[in-house]
Amino acid sequence: MEKQTRNPAVLVIGAGMSGILLGIKLREAGITDITIVEKGDGVGGTWRENTYPGVSCDVPAHMYAYSFEPFVGWDDRFAEGAQIRQYFEQTADKYGITELVRFNEEVTAAQYRDGRWQVTTSKGDALSVDFIVAATGILHHPSVPDIPGLSDFAGTAFHTARWDHKLDFSGKRVGVIGTGSTAAQVIPALVNQGVPVSIFQRTPQWMFPRPDAHYSPLYKKTLARLPFLATLIGRLWAWYYAQMFAKMVIGKPLQFWITDRIVRRNLEKAVANPELRAKLTPDYRVGCKRLVLASDFFEAVQQPHCELITDDVDHVEPDGIVTRDGNKHPLDVLVLATGFHHLNFMRPMDLTGRDGIHIETAWQQQCLSYRSVTIPGFPNFFLMTGPNSPVGNFSVTRVAEVQADYMMKLIRRWQQGEFDAIEPRPDAADSFLSRIKANMTGTVWTGGCQSWYLDPTGTPALWPFTFGQWVEEMREPNLADFDVYRSTSVSVNS
Ligand code: NAP
Repeated sequence: MEKQTRNPAVLVIGAGMSGILLGIKLREAGITDITIVEKGDGVGGTWRENTYPGVSCDVPAHMYAYSFEPFVGWDDRFAEGAQIRQYFEQTADKYGITELVRFNEEVTAAQYRDGRWQVTTSKGDALSVDFIVAATGILHHPSVPDIPGLSDFAGTAFHTARWDHKLDFSGKRVGVIGTGSTAAQVIPALVNQGVPVSIFQRTPQWMFPRPDAHYSPLYKKTLARLPFLATLIGRLWAWYYAQMFAKMVIGKPLQFWITDRIVRRNLEKAVANPELRAKLTPDYRVGCKRLVLASDFFEAVQQPHCELITDDVDHVEPDGIVTRDGNKHPLDVLVLATGFHHLNFMRPMDLTGRDGIHIETAWQQQCLSYRSVTIPGFPNFFLMTGPNSPVGNFSVTRVAEVQADYMMKLIRRWQQGEFDAIEPRPDAADSFLSRIKANMTGTVWTGGCQSWYLDPTGTPALWPFTFGQWVEEMREPNLADFDVYRSTSVSVNS
């Protein structure tokens, strides 16, 4: 006779790529009490929020799709944002996830009390659950720079993640602040539409040439007939990214040398004017900031209606930007491609763990996690793509799948009655982080730049080993690294 298992109540926060994934995994495990709370009005997360012109993913689409749900209909090797959003919507529908989502609602507070999480939402509803999974993503709170006079700008100003689609750009001069991955997509899209653009660059970026390709109807037809090919292509790209970028960033000499040569050549080939080239040449190691993969940024910068401004922004006036050299740059529209608050994770949220420990206290010094998915003092609480996940120039979907499988193994043990609550031991989390920090020297992230990879102590909150090692270490949770409790509040391990 099959052993009876418990059916936990699970709350997933966020219906983006990782929230949908968790929903699928939970359902596969036979769990029926699943609630997904989503602040937006649809699924898709970052692909729902980022709709700026040119939005696409610089990770090949076949590799970005879930490994268990290959898609044969990608239009491009590097899919456009709208198609990625559609893929996640369709997948959420197919697996019965959309119906589990409470849209336009946020989790405002969660407190661990009497062995369960007591949750409050922005609609004033109360939930009581056994597990919480924060699938909130990393980059979702737009960072609006603190530039004097910005609020007095008389034209239209908005962040790239809040694109104003009603705006008619004809006859307007647009200023774009920033030159990160987002700017490298939005600038060519605007310039190619004939919009005059002034780029305000504080720091140049290394740009790796993105090998774009539009897939023909024959290609798609072939994949539709032989869908395993979509899986195979995804695996090949994943292998290439793991061997190339994931090793380059941790300082493997060959991969670093190759990437360094490619980005330097790319710049030399694309920009003939030595003065402009000098302005576009970074003074830090390639990969230190997230490597930008772009095919048309340099071309756009050299168009007569595009101007690269490298003097720092001093202040904004109602009709333009004044740079430190005193020059005024008249503008009608101001686009802030200025990135995100990368250390928020699931915050702001009034999150209180065991014995009244608040997340702001627990994370006062740094965002401490154990293996990127759990936090000491926060029982039965999981994070997707949490601190020290191997994110960067890799498929975050592949990362999320490994994390989802890891947490499902712990939830499965709960279902089988091995424990009622689980949290990582503080010493295990400390030694996890110490090992990571000790191995940061030699990675490109310590290569003399400012980036969203850095935590408040200036240490990259990333994974300094190979992706393969991460997969290996995440294969099976080591229960010795956890405190596990029965509902009597006795730690089974200690
Ligand atoms: P970002 O990489 O953080 O870049 C922000 C840009 O804004 C930088 O150039 C920064 O300059 C500039 N900036 C910020 N504050 C400024 C100020 N006060 N004055 C002047 N310049 C200022 O942000 P992002 O481009 O939105 O990209 C964030 C991340 O999203 C990427 O790294 C990537 O992980 C992800 N993303 C991925 C894709 C994809 O295709 N997969 C596409 C877009 C974004 P400094 O460099 O000097 O700080």
